[in-house]
Amino acid sequence: MQYQAGVAFAQEMDSQDPLAPMREQFHIPKQANGDDELYFTGNSLGLQPKLTADYVQEFLTSWQQRGVKGHFEGDYPWLPYHEFLTQQAAKLVGAKDDEVVMMNSLTANLHLMMVSFYQPTSSRFKILVEDHAFPSDHYAVESQIRHHGLTPQEALLLWKPRAGEELLNHQDLYDLIEQQGDEIALLLLPGVQYYTGQVLDMREITRRAHAKGILVGFDLAHAAGNLAMELHSWQVDFACWCSYKYLNSGAGSVAGCFVHQRHAHNTQLPRFAGWWGHDKQSRFLMGNQFHAIASAEGWQLSNPPILSLAAIRASFDVIEQAGGIQAMREKSVKLTGYLAYLLKNELAGKIAFITPDNPKERGCQLSLMVTLPHLNGKALMAQLEARGVVTDWREPNVIRCAPAPLYNSFMDVYRFVQILKECLA
Ligand SMILES: *Cc1c(COP(=O)(O)O)cnc(C)c1O
Repeated sequence: MQYQAGVAFAQEMDSQDPLAPMREQFHIPKQANGDDELYFTGNSLGLQPKLTADYVQEFLTSWQQRGVKGHFEGDYPWLPYHEFLTQQAAKLVGAKDDEVVMMNSLTANLHLMMVSFYQPTSSRFKILVEDHAFPSDHYAVESQIRHHGLTPQEALLLWKPRAGEELLNHQDLYDLIEQQGDEIALLLLPGVQYYTGQVLDMREITRRAHAKGILVGFDLAHAAGNLAMELHSWQVDFACWCSYKYLNSGAGSVAGCFVHQRHAHNTQLPRFAGWWGHDKQSRFLMGNQFHAIASAEGWQLSNPPILSLAAIRASFDVIEQAGGIQAMREKSVKLTGYLAYLLKNELAGKIAFITPDNPKERGCQLSLMVTLPHLNGKALMAQLEARGVVTDWREPNVIRCAPAPLYNSFMDVYRFVQILKECLA
């Protein structure tokens, strides 16, 4: 891709962009002056599709009119409602239909997965995470370790960036796997690192770990709706993701979970069970003997919040209208590449990004760092905010900026960089 400076290039890119009309499908927050905000925080909370209100209202109406019969009646009865999401969820992460389910929340799903896939023995008891794992993931892992009567000192292994570096070096992970692999029970890693925006090589990591008998789970909070993935053919053991970041389903909305077929079909795997994971034919016979559904659905606990699933259905339909994750990724590579180009060309020496410069090693997000000695990043962010730019600050040092292909334009990126230049002038 040949990028150019100047507003004409941004306009030309927008005019050629097949996803440009998708912006109309979203509510874009407004600045005080009535202009659209320059919203680059889809990595934290995605914007609301206009369709969401319709689908949520449809649920409210069904409940108003049908009461309990809404479980069984109407176009989208609640009893099987999560099944209306299955095909699209599977496509999103490159899974078979029986490998995915929308349920619970992200951290809750991580716990449920570790209950099944972290079974420490006296010789193989370690969990490997990256040093800068999202705090919730780190807490979940440490508490699982303690739950088994072990300590993080003995059972938690950290993959750290090299001294003075921000990014994780895959070779260091492969060395750890070689050296300590026989003691490692589980790798739990992000698909996209939330702070740096670095994409991990999920396929190769899984291959190397499996060669040593290690199970592999991914947290896809920043990867779902951002990258095209092939979890099934990569042989990933399990994965979890939330739906409110790049999946635009609203704060705290229900999360996703992937369990590879070779595990999902095994109804004997240890798990924390609930009635929604029980065999559908006999669920309402109300017996005391748990029979797991032989799919990812077998990890469900409760009947799910339909309000939230309705929002997810809207989001998935919007993604489908856009041509799916491949079409989104195609635009995203260009859009984020354009941002990287403008930063390097127009703000060199002032703003740098720590995210990899290779498009294959990043998604939407660039993590910006102020390199001017006298200016503090947080102060810059406040200036940006005053000018209608929404980014987010992550301690200790980074402004995260994620142009999202469904609703951000090349003009958004162009304007952002012009505003950055004004702030730094
Ligand atoms: C956003 C995010 C979470 C949030 O967890 P919830 O259980 O949805 O509150 C967890 N882990 C990662 C890596 C995240 O990016």
